[in-house]
Amino acid sequence: MTDFPRSLLTGYDSFMSGRYSGESQRYRTLAETGQKPHTLVVACCDSRAAPETIFDAGPGELFVIRNVANLVPPYEPDGQYHATSAALEYAVQVLKVRDIVVMGHGRCGGIQAALDPMDEPLSPGDFIGKWMGLLRPTAEQIPSTDVMTQSERQTALERVSIRNSIANLRTFPCVRILEEKGRMRVHGAWFDISTGELWIMDSKTGDFIRPTVELPVPTSA
Ligand SMILES: [Zn+2]
Repeated sequence: MTDFPRSLLTGYDSFMSGRYSGESQRYRTLAETGQKPHTLVVACCDSRAAPETIFDAGPGELFVIRNVANLVPPYEPDGQYHATSAALEYAVQVLKVRDIVVMGHGRCGGIQAALDPMDEPLSPGDFIGKWMGLLRPTAEQIPSTDVMTQSERQTALERVSIRNSIANLRTFPCVRILEEKGRMRVHGAWFDISTGELWIMDSKTGDFIRPTVELPVPTSA
């Protein structure tokens, strides 16, 4: 007997008989030749906002960093532990991804904590408080008057935070240089978990808009 979660074992069985068996050759090739994902996605840890699910991505397509509230910290070569920066460095310098997407989502608990910080930290380490401190100067600019409802404030910060993370991305010399040379593109996206809508950031204005997907024109037989 094992106390390993039964739901995970059931899911694994389903994966092996479904997706893995359908893509076993692709998995074998990826094992032999190594991964070459085209896109890095920075997403939230939230269990409802998995990039591979939302973008219907197969193995080897997306390199994913997930952290609380999908934040990118600024470039700080200070010898400390920087998990997000380490993964970013690897994706850009070694895997040479062509695109980076910072993807936020609706009803984000991390963003809510940045808007209305808890009176007491969850633990003496206050890891969430410290992490969300990255966003505090930005959060303080979101009005807390009656002009906006709580959910409007939250959606606003979820989107402003994406622009903030993109600005931080560009403090990394490797990102800035490759983007200037036209060899990499940086994007923002926001996923509404309640409706399934994906909004993407207009690179010129910073506004979030609904993408128009050009579907292939059916050819007549
Ligand atoms: Zn979140």
